[in-house]
Amino acid sequence: MRVYFDYNATTPLTPEVVEAVSVAMRDQFGNASSVHHFGQQAKAAVDDARSAVARLVGADPSEIVFTSGGTESDNFAIRGAAEALEPTGRRHLVASAIEHEAVLNTLKALARRGWRTSILPVDQSGVASPDRLRDLIGSTKDVALVSVMHANNEIGTIQPIAELARIAHEHGALMHTDAVQSAGKIPVDVRALGVDLLSVSAHKFNGPKGVGALFIKRGTRMQPILTGGKHERNRRAGTENVPAIVGMGVAAQQAVGKLASEALRVGALRNRLEEGILRAVTGTVINGSRMTRVPNTTNISFDRVEAESLLIALDLEGIAVSTGSACSSGTLEPSHVLRAMGFPPHRTQNSLRFSLGVYSTDAEVDRVIDALPRLVEKLRGLTQKRAASVSG
Ligand code: PLP
Repeated sequence: MRVYFDYNATTPLTPEVVEAVSVAMRDQFGNASSVHHFGQQAKAAVDDARSAVARLVGADPSEIVFTSGGTESDNFAIRGAAEALEPTGRRHLVASAIEHEAVLNTLKALARRGWRTSILPVDQSGVASPDRLRDLIGSTKDVALVSVMHANNEIGTIQPIAELARIAHEHGALMHTDAVQSAGKIPVDVRALGVDLLSVSAHKFNGPKGVGALFIKRGTRMQPILTGGKHERNRRAGTENVPAIVGMGVAAQQAVGKLASEALRVGALRNRLEEGILRAVTGTVINGSRMTRVPNTTNISFDRVEAESLLIALDLEGIAVSTGSACSSGTLEPSHVLRAMGFPPHRTQNSLRFSLGVYSTDAEVDRVIDALPRLVEKLRGLTQKRAASVSG
C-alpha cells in the first residue's frame, strides 16, 4: 500500500471533480465570451463555479477573478496593485519572511524595477508580529501593499491577518493574503480577515491543477497583468479554462460542505501521527506553533538525520512526504521558512513535512509510525559509521 502525506504540495481529485471536469470538456466546450448558446452554456458553468469559490472565501461572486493558480494570483495581487498605486507615489511593498516564492520572487522582481521592499520577520513559532508591522509601516508613509500569507505551506502556522490588515489600512496600504494553504482547510472569510486581495489555488483542495482565483475587494484599483481581451470583466485577459474552472467550483463546494468535520477528523489524525512519531523516534522536535496552525500539517526535525535521505528511504517504503515547499525540495537548500524562524542548520536541514487530507486514514498513520523508527535508526547508524571511518 502506497501512502500519501504530501497534501500541501498537491491533492488528489475527488470522483465528483473528475466527473465534472469530464462533462465540461465534452459538453461545455463553447467559448464563454461567445454570444450563442454554446458560449452561454460555458459562461453559465463558469458563473456557477465563481459563486462556489466566492462562498468558499465569503466574497461576492463579482469579486472573484479566475487565474492559472496560486502563483498567478499572487503575481496579479502584488503587481496589479503596485502598478495601479504607482501614480500615488507609494512605491514600497512589505511581505513576511516566510512567504511562498510566488510572493518573495515577485517582490524581488519589483525591487529590480525600483520598488522599495521590506521583509517582515517572524518569531520562533513562525508568526509575524503586528507590532513589528506597525513599527515598519509607521516609520514610512509610502507603503502601497502588505502581503502576509494566511497559513504557511511548510509549517502550517496561521498568521494574525485581521490585525495586520487593520494596521496596513491605518497607514493607507492595501492588504493581500495568500490563502492557498488555508482555503478548504479552515474557514476563510475575506470580510472577517479584512483583506483587499486574497489568493487561492484549486489543486490544494482537491481541484484541478493550473487554476486558481484572486479575490479583489469591490472598488480596489488594480492594473491587469495579462492584457488582451475583455475577459473576467477586463481584469484577466484570455479565454477561460472552462473545465478547470468547473472542477475548481465543485472542489470548492465540496470543501465548504465538509470543512468543520474534516478539520476535526484530519486534525485528530495529524495529532496522532505527531505524537506517535515523537514517542517512537528519539531526537525529534516539532517546528512552528502547535496552537495556531492548519489541522493537516506537521513539520518535524529529526536529530542527526538528513531530511533528503529520510525522504528517499520513506519513498522506498511507499510513503510520500516532503522536505518542505515543493519548489525548494530537491535543491538541498535549507528551508527559508525555518531559517527565518532562527533555527540552526542542523534543524533546518533535518526537517520533514507531513501533510494530510481527505483520503488520509488511521491505517496510513500507523504505517508511518511503524516504519520511521527503523529507518531513522538505520540512517543514524550509517552516519555514525561514515563519521567513524573518516576520523579513523
Ligand atoms: N502560495 C502557497 C502558500 C503555496 O503553497 C503554493 C504552492 O505550493 C503557491 C502559492 C503556488 O500555487 P500554484 O502551485 O497554484 O501556482
